[in-house]
Amino acid sequence: MEKKIKKPELLAPAGNFEKLITAFHFGADAVYLGLKRFSLRNFAGNFTLPQLDEAVKIAKELNKKIYVTLNIFPYDEDLEEIEAVLFELNNIKPHGLIVSDPAVFLLAKKLTDIEVHISTQLNVMNSETANFWFKQGVKRIVAARELNINQIEKLCKKAKGEIEVFIHGALCIAYSGRCFLSLYMTGRSANRGECTQSCRWNYKLLEESERKGQYFPIEEDERGSYIFNSKDLCAIPVLDKLIDAGVSSLKIEGRMKSIHYVAVTTDVYRTAIDLIFEGDTEKFHVLKDELVNELSRVSNRGFTTNFFEGTPDSSSYNFESSKYINQFALVGSIIKKADNFVEILLKNPLSKGELVEFRDRGLLKERVKVCKLFLAKDNEEIEKGNPNSIVRIYGNFKCGVNSIVRK
Ligand code: SF4
Repeated sequence: MEKKIKKPELLAPAGNFEKLITAFHFGADAVYLGLKRFSLRNFAGNFTLPQLDEAVKIAKELNKKIYVTLNIFPYDEDLEEIEAVLFELNNIKPHGLIVSDPAVFLLAKKLTDIEVHISTQLNVMNSETANFWFKQGVKRIVAARELNINQIEKLCKKAKGEIEVFIHGALCIAYSGRCFLSLYMTGRSANRGECTQSCRWNYKLLEESERKGQYFPIEEDERGSYIFNSKDLCAIPVLDKLIDAGVSSLKIEGRMKSIHYVAVTTDVYRTAIDLIFEGDTEKFHVLKDELVNELSRVSNRGFTTNFFEGTPDSSSYNFESSKYINQFALVGSIIKKADNFVEILLKNPLSKGELVEFRDRGLLKERVKVCKLFLAKDNEEIEKGNPNSIVRIYGNFKCGVNSIVRK
């Protein structure tokens, strides 16, 4: 029997509390986050158990969801601590646990009644494997990233549970992140949340026999070639097809990215999903370029649809540079709004006379010239606000609390 297509969940990354609030404000239905350990993103801010407890309460009030990543591949000596964490999680009751390792899966089933999702790290490529996991009591599978849309559609049709796919963000060239390059080059293991992105470094090939010590002549130029440097995934060009395929959850990568990235990516995909699902695909197609443009305003390495439209070719790689492209610098976020002013928590300096842009949900933008700047605490007029201070700008603005300020 054909499955009826439900509106997919929009799932955003929450590297810390501020990003969680930002993701919910800009339209995420759910966020995924890590604890201080065991989450494969040890360099993100992550959450303590009390912070998670608070976050879950906020999500429940907003009718949104929180999934906790426990997708490490543990050693035997890690298991006792994982048991203790699962015991705590069962009291806090997030909406789901994302796991990779069968031992963590078994412990999660034994010690909690929280739903379990299988991470993309487990590389589920077909419906038989998916149904194996669903039979064990898994609620959702994050599909392998190496699938095209037809394969995703077949998987969704035959799978006896929910399928989630990544739709945006940095790509790892290793199959489902199974990679030892970082461990080999730096001693930091990607499989334990410490990837140093060694694949993006600038490599050269050396000839070692006939011309010992010389650079091999196939290199692109004297700077070498970024042979593994994938562009970022962006699913906007095929989003309507992914929704038609019957995917249950659409996931944005990037727990280590800024609140600016979280705000803009969440807002763009929220807008696109709503347009497509509510039947306004014509407007979606008209807006496509603008949506991709808006995504390119936050940190990115250029975009590719990766495997969605077939095996990626050389246009999916950036051979020139592995640096992020940023069109804007984040200034801060609006934390208070009154009829005649807004207060901004600064992440970067802001000076009198600068031109900034406020960015709220629904693609709302407002250009603002900072004619005068005040310290929020005593209303003293200042020339320049420093990071972590709260400044006030007078005016009647359309954008509200949680908006991003950028320049
Ligand atoms: S080094 Fe590169 S390919 Fe390997 S896990 Fe890290 S991002 Fe992926």
